[in-house]
Amino acid sequence: MLKRLNDPQLGREMIRKVRERAARLTERLGRAVTLMEVCGTHTMAVSGTGLRGLLSGLVELRSGPGCPVCVTPARDIEQIIAFARLSGVTVATFGDMVRVPGAQSSLERERAGGARVQIVYSPADALQLARDNPRWEVIFIGVGFETTAPLAAVSIKQAAELGLTNFSIYSVHKLVPPVMGALLGAGDLKVDGFILPGHVCAVTGSRAFAFIGEEYGIPAVVAGFTPVDILDALYVLLDLIQAGDHRVVNGYRWVVRDDGNLKAQRAITDCFYTGDAAWRGFGVVEGSGLFIRDQYAQYDATQKFAGAGPASVAGPGLATERVGKSTTTGGFGTGDFLEPRGCRCGELLRGLITPPDCALFGGKCTPASPAGPCMVSSEGACAAYYRYVTNQPRLPGVVNANSGAAGSGAGCRKVEL
Ligand code: SF4
Repeated sequence: MLKRLNDPQLGREMIRKVRERAARLTERLGRAVTLMEVCGTHTMAVSGTGLRGLLSGLVELRSGPGCPVCVTPARDIEQIIAFARLSGVTVATFGDMVRVPGAQSSLERERAGGARVQIVYSPADALQLARDNPRWEVIFIGVGFETTAPLAAVSIKQAAELGLTNFSIYSVHKLVPPVMGALLGAGDLKVDGFILPGHVCAVTGSRAFAFIGEEYGIPAVVAGFTPVDILDALYVLLDLIQAGDHRVVNGYRWVVRDDGNLKAQRAITDCFYTGDAAWRGFGVVEGSGLFIRDQYAQYDATQKFAGAGPASVAGPGLATERVGKSTTTGGFGTGDFLEPRGCRCGELLRGLITPPDCALFGGKCTPASPAGPCMVSSEGACAAYYRYVTNQPRLPGVVNANSGAAGSGAGCRKVEL
């Protein structure tokens, strides 16, 4: 099975079929088919494999709110920095979080200034760090969606079993179905279909996304992550659009069940309750956040370090602007959330623009000097575009497409088939 999924011959044949099908649909619509890939891993895959370029002019792929680091709002970044400034505290976090810029600092800068910031690969690593260093207070930054939340839940339970007193979690875990509801409810997104995140659906089940078709009349396909998986999902999705069929189809059946992974869901609900959470670019989305239950309050960093809020995210000379909003009704307007000036990560995460539409892209914002999280994260749309789409082709026989407007294949690689 795995060999088949990575078969280049099969891939070439599928590309031909997807292009054929997309060309028919494009002719009927009088424009390119617009699809959103909701998952950051898909964003990297469609850019890294050159799929964007291969489908240039036929399929426009927009990125959505599927990068957990990117959707962590400025307020939470400031809170995390405030934790790092506490004496005796070690902040344990994933590598991408370290470089996300806050209003005046970042974890990277705090570390250079003497703060203890440790990169880990899982909540279990953070727990081990706390066990190995009983004199440290270890705060794990719980960033992620339904896929990482069960692992955080397990680490909380283990900490309780071990009687650890020096471990806690700052939970900024988020749930994908509610933000999809907010995205579609806002009414300004114009897409013909969605490629849904296979890993998230493995936990939630594909049924959790059925409302996309039922309430909004937009088809969607749950996709895996190999090039052939993605091509297969595209093929099915184009077929659904052509047929005017608005179902959500599970194209990753060997991993995703309709009802998902009940054990993982139980682990989440055992340790977390759902509440309203702020997302970068969205503001507060009802029922989209996971917060630690009172039963495990001693492992909740917000309770353990209750006085350690960010000093201020608004001050003289800050290069930030107010964006986002504080409720999910009526679109996304002015609100309480601060973003770097000129940064359009919020619109990007809502699928309204592509990275080159941001005036900072490739100039004031690069991976070496990022202005926003979408350029920092390994799953960020701007990082993917910068790395793959705007760079030279890496495959033999691949040429750069013409320059032009963003989202129309500008700077994309094109393979002559
Ligand atoms: S180019 Fe930089 S500032 Fe602009 S949207 Fe992307 S990450 Fe944000």
